[in-house]
Amino acid sequence: MIPSVLPTYNRAPLEFVKGEGAWLTTADGRRFLDLGSGIAVNALGHAHPALVEALTSQAQALWHVSNLYQIPQQQALADKLVEHTFADTVFFTNSGTEACELAVKMARKYFYEKGQPERVEIITFDGSFHGRSSAGIAAAGSEKMVKGFGPLLPGFVHLAFGDLDGVTNAISDSTAAIMIEPVQGEGGIRVVPDAELKALRRICDEHGLLLILDEVQCGVGRTGKLFAHEWAGITPDVMMVAKGIGGGFPLGAVLATEEAASGMTAGTHGSTYGGNPLGCAVGCAVMDHVADPDFLAEVNRKAGLLRQKLEGLVADHPEVFEEVRGSGLMLGLKCAAANFDVVNAGYANALITVPAADNVIRLLPPLTLTDEDIAEAVSRLDAVATTVRIGNA
Ligand SMILES: *Cc1c(COP(=O)(O)O)cnc(C)c1O
Repeated sequence: MIPSVLPTYNRAPLEFVKGEGAWLTTADGRRFLDLGSGIAVNALGHAHPALVEALTSQAQALWHVSNLYQIPQQQALADKLVEHTFADTVFFTNSGTEACELAVKMARKYFYEKGQPERVEIITFDGSFHGRSSAGIAAAGSEKMVKGFGPLLPGFVHLAFGDLDGVTNAISDSTAAIMIEPVQGEGGIRVVPDAELKALRRICDEHGLLLILDEVQCGVGRTGKLFAHEWAGITPDVMMVAKGIGGGFPLGAVLATEEAASGMTAGTHGSTYGGNPLGCAVGCAVMDHVADPDFLAEVNRKAGLLRQKLEGLVADHPEVFEEVRGSGLMLGLKCAAANFDVVNAGYANALITVPAADNVIRLLPPLTLTDEDIAEAVSRLDAVATTVRIGNA
């Protein structure tokens, strides 16, 4: 008999009832160290007082009115995002998937309005993840996501990760945009080198294409900059954001330049919930912390500390871990053992990590984790390696 919850997930037998900082507590009182943050969502950790206050005080005042009216919290969050990024304008969604939908629509509408309606194609890369909608799965194009869900939304060209020559060859009179994650998350924490992002920016400029960055997972302070592309010294035309921006409340956004957004006039797009007072009140509180240079400096310091200890861990356990990769607090351990065994051994040692493609486990801790949390994380990962080694012996 089918379970009452549609069984599209293989869930771990863990039930958390409370969170605080980087720690989660189960119903039977066990405390887990959370290096997953609900897949890079709880950027400020669990139950951060400022977020609890933002949400509860907004909840007492007003939950929802729809976008038929002015929403001051939405205005405030848009102003903050515009102030701190390349963007001139922002549309709010409830998820990364919806941000992908709009990014695709925006790119196509841009060329339509410019009198080039044939420019509809978007170049994407293997191993990418852009959400589970029809556009999202067509954009990523992996067999696992698209099989059985055809006919797919047309207009995506898939290239191998890092295939810059392929990009130039793939550009035609039908090309509208290039869409890429500066750091692939689901794909196994694969960092796009700065030089490559710079080259993509240059190619877009030469061919009049839009550069769409998917920073749903790598954005909002995760890599130690407010947005990951800042490391490469480039800016996109359109950027998808979600996950961390809501700190645990469902919130996403599409940020764009005035030029790229020029086709999106009144009536061309919408969302009932997108940009609601609750989500935007929380989003403002998240931005107030994460956009602070001192906060980002701390992320970078802690990332350096964690990475250094992880290098030692890998050196100590070559039969379990192959390498450390990633940027800031978006880290991956490429496993020599099966990554799912490592994640399960984490559960056995009260440690949460997240599996990804390419036999990687992801470490996406709250950006607020403490130095003590880092020491504890590495000590538990060391125990995890021993558990895996004994299990495989
Ligand atoms: C998670 C993710 C998405 C999809 O976001 P949802 O909120 O799950 O819809 C899109 N792109 C990237 C890079 C992601 O990590």
